[in-house]
Amino acid sequence: MTIHIPEDKLAEIRNAADIVEIISERVALKKAGKDHIGLCPFHSEKTPSFTVSSTKQIFHCFGCGVGGDVFNFLIKFDGISFPEAVQTLARRYGIQLPSRQMTPSEKKEISERETLFDINKKVLAYYREQLLSRSGGKKALAYLEGRGFTRETINRFGIGYAPDGWDNLLRFFKKEKISERLAEKTGLIVPRSSKTGYYDRFRNRIMFPIVDVTRQVIAFGGRVLDDSKPKYLNSPETAIYNKSRSLYGLHAAKDKCRENETVYIVEGYFDLLAMHQHGITNSVATLGTSLTSGHVKMLRRGYAKKARLVFDSDTAGIKAALRSIGLFMDESVDVEIIVLPAGEDPDSFLFAHGSDAFFGEADSARGAIEFLIDSAVKTHGLSMQGKIRIVDELKQPLADIRDRVARSIYIRYLSERLGVDESAILDRVRNTGEERSKTVTRSSLSAMPSESSQGPNLVKNRIETRMVTMMLQAPDIVSTIENQRITDYFEDKDLKEIAELILSDPPKSREDISQLLNRTTDDSQRQLIASFVIRDECWDQKSCEKLIEQFLSSRKRRQHLLLDQIKSAEQNNNHELLFKLLKEKQKQVVKPD
Ligand SMILES: [Zn+2]
Repeated sequence: MTIHIPEDKLAEIRNAADIVEIISERVALKKAGKDHIGLCPFHSEKTPSFTVSSTKQIFHCFGCGVGGDVFNFLIKFDGISFPEAVQTLARRYGIQLPSRQMTPSEKKEISERETLFDINKKVLAYYREQLLSRSGGKKALAYLEGRGFTRETINRFGIGYAPDGWDNLLRFFKKEKISERLAEKTGLIVPRSSKTGYYDRFRNRIMFPIVDVTRQVIAFGGRVLDDSKPKYLNSPETAIYNKSRSLYGLHAAKDKCRENETVYIVEGYFDLLAMHQHGITNSVATLGTSLTSGHVKMLRRGYAKKARLVFDSDTAGIKAALRSIGLFMDESVDVEIIVLPAGEDPDSFLFAHGSDAFFGEADSARGAIEFLIDSAVKTHGLSMQGKIRIVDELKQPLADIRDRVARSIYIRYLSERLGVDESAILDRVRNTGEERSKTVTRSSLSAMPSESSQGPNLVKNRIETRMVTMMLQAPDIVSTIENQRITDYFEDKDLKEIAELILSDPPKSREDISQLLNRTTDDSQRQLIASFVIRDECWDQKSCEKLIEQFLSSRKRRQHLLLDQIKSAEQNNNHELLFKLLKEKQKQVVKPD
């Protein structure tokens, strides 16, 4: 790919950036020998095959084949372009990029995201000042303190206030010389329907900045101080804000989530603040939207194996719980449901009863299926009709359970609860499962690629694979390969191209490997290179020479075999075969003995 960011700047970033640090912010990694491993964020798996090498500064998944360096990871994971990945890391490690040498389109690409982050940061400071130092914010601050929130919590979450009126933020943008056209892209101002100018989206609201795991402000949520509607309002999706990949409070919760391997999921902003203020810091909140499979995947791969959903006891809360259970089962996340006493939400409950009482409720949390069964019984009753409805409602979730032992335990529980024969329920569940496997599965509908998405064809010509691996891991041998023109003998097109790419500028260090990775525009070639680099192999002069010898003699054997076959095809007048063999011979460019 053509990049106009100077190579010395890229090298500086490569040197400063640590791939383990960057990836572990997004994926939970464990040390395994020299490397780090975790659950692959790019395909569904239960045992980790996603490997990150800190010595080689490379990642590679042995399951689906994805791989590359730190830039390639960010491009794939965050869905950004190469210049954006460069900029993200440059900012992160305090490296100044000279914009002079970049093309206008690179500048534009980098600057849009950068500008949105910058604007949001300024607006955060503006809202904070309104809350803490302006007369307009007094009632909002009094409201927060009246609900029991401490100054520490308010500061920790950067809570602010959007003053009443239609053009406060607009005037702020004018003062800061931020154009309205740019500011509109943050979603903070909205064009008037008359198309004459803009107005502030958030007015007279308590403002919650939504930050990503690297603590950049990506959006805002606002809550009214009274009973007016809508109670909550969020930024629309923008170039830097993707709702199905954002959870409120994750930046503050992630360390504790990893430590406890458990995450509490609540619904509202105030619920989240109350959880953290009461020391339950492994808590995140959905942002007024329902939980998506993207959220569940993100949590499972990055932060926790177990989720505890805390819901209001009202029917809306229970319905939300019912809807999300399948998402957790799809990702093999243990899920428990905590239903608080009638009329309570986590916020009111914690302030009234404290964290010990909350943990008491949490201890009696029910597993997802038990919860489903109990609420179905509550809804439909145990009349004959009711029982039929219950089995009908539960056959799908029961069929969704992948663990057979768990499934049979739940089926027995249901049969005992209803007084219905176990085998009758089992029959219904089986039929459902079969029907469903004929149609489409939920995980194949989800946003991220599933098990079925395979990486590059990993089964490659074995000896050529070894040769390329050697060229990458033992740079001293590359000149021998070049002098003897050994790559001419390669048969696999991809491997030959990679070998030639190596010859064109042989990599001598891990920085050079990273440069090589970004010289190829072909994703599958890049993944192959990463998979070769990450192998742990030892090369000395002798083993290198031995491999080259093996390679050449195998090529010669094949050539002789081909010549023999051609001869016998000629003798037998088998024209069809002869044509095929001659074509194959053409492909083999072999020097005379
Ligand atoms: Zn994978």
